[in-house]
Amino acid sequence: MRTKKSLITIVIPIHNETGSINWHHKKIIKHVNSLSLNYEILYIDDGSTDNSLELVKLLASTDDRVKYISFSRNFGKEAAISAGLKKALGDAVLIIDADGQHPIELIGKFIEKWHEGFDIVVGVRRSNQGEGFIKSAGSRLFYFLLKSIDNGYDVTPASTDFRLVDRLVIDQYNKLTERNRISRNLMDWLGFKKTTLPFDALARHAGKASYSYSKLVKLAIDGAIKHSTRPLKFIGVLGLLISFVTIIAMIFLFVEKYILLDPLHLAVTGTALLALFLSFLVGIVLTCQGLLALYLENVFYETQNRPLYVVREEK
Ligand code: UDP
Ligand code: MG
Repeated sequence: MRTKKSLITIVIPIHNETGSINWHHKKIIKHVNSLSLNYEILYIDDGSTDNSLELVKLLASTDDRVKYISFSRNFGKEAAISAGLKKALGDAVLIIDADGQHPIELIGKFIEKWHEGFDIVVGVRRSNQGEGFIKSAGSRLFYFLLKSIDNGYDVTPASTDFRLVDRLVIDQYNKLTERNRISRNLMDWLGFKKTTLPFDALARHAGKASYSYSKLVKLAIDGAIKHSTRPLKFIGVLGLLISFVTIIAMIFLFVEKYILLDPLHLAVTGTALLALFLSFLVGIVLTCQGLLALYLENVFYETQNRPLYVVREEK
């Protein structure tokens, strides 16, 4: 149901955002009213230690369309998003950061794309004010690596959590059982009709980002590992390659030195042959690791317990 009357749930994860909440909330209300949207706003307080929760409670006490969930401690943005998707009543959910980095003015555009028939509208960062070179280069490198270990489904580069998801996708997402999850990757995996909406990320309104470099690196590694088992199998391929090259070289040099008695005057030493033999053994060990990786891959996919397929519609 995608009509002007459809209910849109705006999910906003919050972790220590005292300085932004009221400012941000006012901006959203003003904008959604100008669009005559039928909406609810769902705040997920992810264990804030400042008085973010009090501010959110105050907003909810004066407006029935404002709701909140408060976690017992900080569980991370991914958990907050999952909670939001589970509790949302809307025909579509729009996820927005609370710090003002996601331009509110684009809400109308997201909904327009949704009305055009897209199930997922992904906000894609064109640029990011106040984001250092390291962060943007890191993000680019991450998506480049992710693409090169591709496991058969589309990855949207520079994608963010600033996105609109249709009820079809939400219901499927809520069925996934993985514990350690990155919603962006899982939504890529789910498929559905997807489009992107480029935006320029703004500078933070107040406070500082909860995501430190080390957290981001962990997120990137997690993302890559969940996305593909190729790095694991790469070790095996490397092992095979080393074994192959060293055994050819070994046979060649052995015959040249001990059977043909060095007609090429290579004067290969016994130590060199030994080094080659050791490299060969390393190759064998890596190959065996690759073999283990194949079994591990099986366990990995079985424990993820993802559905075999995802249906978009049927009759
Ligand atoms: N956030 C959260 N839990 C966390 C960290 C962040 O709910 O553990 C929220 C935060 O309040 C903000 C959004 O997630 O609304 C994005 O966080 P942040 O600005 O720290 O990250 P970045 O902009 O660097 O992606
Ligand atoms: Mg931010």
